[in-house]
Amino acid sequence: KAINLTNMLEDVVDRFSFQCKQKNIQISLHAGRYLPHVYADRDKIDQVLDNLVSNAVKYTPDGGKISVYAKHRANGMIEVAIQDTGIGIPKKDLGRIFERFYRVDKARSRNMGGTGLGLAIAQEIVRAHDGEIWIESEYQNGTTISFTLPPCEPEVIG
Ligand code: ATP
Ligand code: MG
Repeated sequence: KAINLTNMLEDVVDRFSFQCKQKNIQISLHAGRYLPHVYADRDKIDQVLDNLVSNAVKYTPDGGKISVYAKHRANGMIEVAIQDTGIGIPKKDLGRIFERFYRVDKARSRNMGGTGLGLAIAQEIVRAHDGEIWIESEYQNGTTISFTLPPCEPEVIG
């Protein structure tokens, strides 16, 4: 189960490029050149990427920007970050955002569709892979969601 994350990130960006074009959102990928393969279940990681990128598209208004980053951390883990210039999440909600069915302010999510499960599922999958997932957000300014996955051949530097 060695998977090439860079290929998967290219694919997910492709899958969402039509929706982004429709919303005039600029989506771009910035992946490190020598990213090691990760040890993971491809379908599960696809599900994580779909959930996170669909959130970025859904919660970013027309004309915004989505940047996907991947890098090899000094501790050996591969880190992926999805950054958007969207509506952001109020501080008071950030601590509960990974809970099942939790959605910020029903009024703003009502028209958007969805159940509030995407992040809970993403967290479950990432943790099952011995990774971590976290979110940083500034209300009305944008959100970055990041997660880590173990490399195929773990070598810990430093
Ligand atoms: P589902 O993913 O089940 O279709 P959902 O998108 O509402 O529904 P989650 O993906 O779990 O559910 O996200 C939970 C809530 O977190 C969302 O309702 C939204 O309020 C907030 N949220 C998640 N990602 C972002 C983001 N990138 N920008 C702003 N708010 C976000
Ligand atoms: Mg979602």
